[in-house]
Amino acid sequence: MTDHADALARVAEAEDTLRAIAAGEVDAFVVSDDARGSRIFTLSTADRPYRMFVENMRDGAATLSASGLILFANRRLSELLSCPREAIVGSPLTAFLADDSQRDLAHIRGPGGQGATAELELLGADGVRVPVQVGSSPLSVDGAELLCLTFTDLSAHKAKDREISRLGRAQGERMAQLQAAQEALTAQATHDALTGLPNRELLVERIDEAMERCRRSRKFMALLFIDLDRFKQVNDNHGHAAGDVALRSVADKLVAVLRPMDTVARIGGDEFVVLAPEIENQLHAVDLGSRLLAELGRRVGGGTRDEERVAASIGISVSAGGRGTAETLLKEADTAMYEAKSLGGRRVAVFDAALGLQVRQRSAARLVLQSALDDERIVAHYQPIIDLASGAVAGFEALARIQADDGSITPPSAFIPAAEESGLVVPLGAQVLRIALEAAARWPTTGVTGPLNLAVNLSSRQFESGDLPTLIADELARCSVSAGCLHLELTETAVMDLHVDLLDQLHRIAALGVQIGLDDFGTGYASLTHLRRLPLTFVKIDQSFIQGLGVDHEDERIVAAVVDLAANLGLRSIAEGVETTDQLRRLRELGCDQAQGYLFDHPLAPGDVPEAIERRATPPPRRPPPARPPAARAPAAPPGR
Ligand code: C2E
Ligand code: CA
Ligand code: CA
Repeated sequence: MTDHADALARVAEAEDTLRAIAAGEVDAFVVSDDARGSRIFTLSTADRPYRMFVENMRDGAATLSASGLILFANRRLSELLSCPREAIVGSPLTAFLADDSQRDLAHIRGPGGQGATAELELLGADGVRVPVQVGSSPLSVDGAELLCLTFTDLSAHKAKDREISRLGRAQGERMAQLQAAQEALTAQATHDALTGLPNRELLVERIDEAMERCRRSRKFMALLFIDLDRFKQVNDNHGHAAGDVALRSVADKLVAVLRPMDTVARIGGDEFVVLAPEIENQLHAVDLGSRLLAELGRRVGGGTRDEERVAASIGISVSAGGRGTAETLLKEADTAMYEAKSLGGRRVAVFDAALGLQVRQRSAARLVLQSALDDERIVAHYQPIIDLASGAVAGFEALARIQADDGSITPPSAFIPAAEESGLVVPLGAQVLRIALEAAARWPTTGVTGPLNLAVNLSSRQFESGDLPTLIADELARCSVSAGCLHLELTETAVMDLHVDLLDQLHRIAALGVQIGLDDFGTGYASLTHLRRLPLTFVKIDQSFIQGLGVDHEDERIVAAVVDLAANLGLRSIAEGVETTDQLRRLRELGCDQAQGYLFDHPLAPGDVPEAIERRATPPPRRPPPARPPAARAPAAPPGR
């Protein structure tokens, strides 16, 4: 028999003995324990092995009376409670339970006192709380209902749990931070920092989605391309901070007008796009555009500052049943916006087939112009300007043309709009100025009216870079042409916007001695204030009014008024598009100073200019002065063509 089995047999034997003792059959017994001899177990010592087992348990153990008093506590429990055993035995268990655990006492007993397990907190004599798992089982001794309890210390577990949950929380916080950072990044990538509106990427995504829905629903959707008019001036005149305020206010106003399903994005400096994903028809979009314009023009909170009211040009493109792509739709809206802008701004334009054709023609024209600029195939033709008093040539207006390799000529009507729109009018203007000054430097002098003048057309876009005065001064010096001979023609619409920078450049140019005049006068809206603030020396009356001379009473009155106005302001008046001798006669009667038109000459190729100068070199004999002063404006002989 092994030692172990031997020991078990002895324990079994001892149990039998104990039962005998409990039954009062025995009160002492002798056990032959080992080779050293027999030992006498009395009743007090008979249960020692059990006691030792209980004492050495890793868990606390106790016996509870039916009234909840602790009858027995092992060493471990005494340790758990930091309390000597004498103080534990005889005390109610509740004395050692933390407040929150008091109510768990019932759990400890289990239903019907059948025993149970529960987690609770012991309250040690030193005030330390010890989490334990309590297991209970009923024990009936001599009719007394006792409860045996074991207490497993959970401190280590709990600490680990706390650590795990702390780590979990920290991890959670890190995850949340990471997610927030990721969301911020995404927002940054898809939103505009200044206004918080979606940016172009997000807009395109939403257009794609809206198109997909339109394809299924067969409905309409619209894009409204909004570009603020003259926004650069807000920045220039009031500073960038004011510009930012204005842009934010625009964003707020747009959002206020739109439906929740609409998207408004900021896709450039002062460019916004509204996506209206579901509309009934095109009119609906136009109506929305008008409402946006009205809202933008409204002052915020009754304020008076410039940046609170803005004008804008709005271009609309509509897609029916999801026609097109985000890119084409945006392009169409952009094109319509340019159309609105070129019509004077503060309006809505809708993209349609005609506009599409125009755009294709313009982009073709842009290509032709670009290659002509690259190959230096820009030429100027020169149209004489006749002094009506003497009949002599006062000068020539340089008019741009493109010369093809085969010698054929493209007129400016075919490329000026594209040049203006694309900005190519800037290099074009510089080339025309250069070649015209070079040509003028070679013109023969006639001695009739002094040196011949050269008129050159300017586009407002040539002022954008700010170095036009320098360019002009340099070219004059290079070609040795006297500044007084150079006459620059600006259209009324080009000077509508009299901003500080434009005025400054015009004054610098005038200070060189160069003359500046208004072209196509009467077709724009130049006010008297404009005429007085600009350093002008002449106005050119638009040919549409000249055509009406002797035909349309209204036109005649306008021409008379312009000639008078010019004279009163000390400006020279020049009539354009004079085609008939009747028109010429009327102009003379009205006292117009100079004239230009097919009646005298068409624009001439450079080689034909000397002949035209010679032709008029001898002044015709003077006639008696007209009825109207001044005498210097006596009619000249009819043009000799
Ligand atoms: P514009 O400055 O008003 O030039 C006068 C236009 O009227 C010229 O047309 C000229 O050929 C035309 N014309 C002259 N006499 C008569 C006439 O008796 N009857 C009629 N019906 N027309 C006459 P063109 O050369 O086709 O130029 C058209 C426009 O293109 C010019 O109008 C000007 O605005 C622009 N342009 C021409 N060259 C340049 C340039 O170098 N720079 C800029 N920015 N614009 C230019
Ligand atoms: Ca002109
Ligand atoms: Ca003109």
